[in-house]
Amino acid sequence: MSRKPRLFVISGPSGAGKGTLVSAIREERPDLGLTVSATTRPPRPHDVPGVTYHFLSDEEFDRRVANGDFLEWADVHGHKYGTLRSEVDRLIDAGKSVILEIDVQGAFNVRRIYPDAVLIFIEPPSLEVLERRLRGRGTEDEASIELRMRNARHEMELADRYDERVVNDDLAKAVGDLGDVLKRYETDGGNS
Ligand code: ADP
Ligand code: 5GP
Repeated sequence: MSRKPRLFVISGPSGAGKGTLVSAIREERPDLGLTVSATTRPPRPHDVPGVTYHFLSDEEFDRRVANGDFLEWADVHGHKYGTLRSEVDRLIDAGKSVILEIDVQGAFNVRRIYPDAVLIFIEPPSLEVLERRLRGRGTEDEASIELRMRNARHEMELADRYDERVVNDDLAKAVGDLGDVLKRYETDGGNS
């Protein structure tokens, strides 16, 4: 069956497993386009500039906002993050389905610009599991973990405004569920 390229937006609390799920799905679907966001947060040890994010100074980020370079941008956990229009246009022009992994504010802003965008919320099985994963990842200091857990409670309240929800409990099942959602929207607009 032929596939119609779609714009997918994936959000969910920090530590829910968005990055893990998106990398796993891309192994199965190398045709999916993934944008590289810009951020003012400092790089972590595993970050690769230009691959995981474009790392910008506050001044450079503000200049690009003024220049209209961002499709959307938001302040998330104390740093600025934004989707570059050029990245999305390049992938859409290439006829690819696109995945934006962005926060809840960004998701609703994208829906306003692209009403056909499909919003997918990745949920942890519980807040306890979320905190365990966030701590287990070992990338945040205590203050950042506490801020991310406070924000998670608010983000989870917005889950029912998303088109689809995927619970990331068993990883293999969640990857399968996410793959099914993408395929469903690409083949029949999400109706089946
Ligand atoms: P996010 O991108 O949403 O912030 P990550 O993908 O970085 O989250 O995942 C957070 C941590 O949880 C990582 O250490 C990851 O390996 C782990 N993780 C992700 N999914 C699962 C899962 N289904 N079961 C157990 N651990 C998971
Ligand atoms: P992290 O610092 O863990 O890489 O990302 C923190 C949060 O920023 C995640 O919730 C992620 O989805 C969000 N984020 C990453 N890129 C963007 C973006 O371009 N725009 C918005 N609005 N949020 C983003």
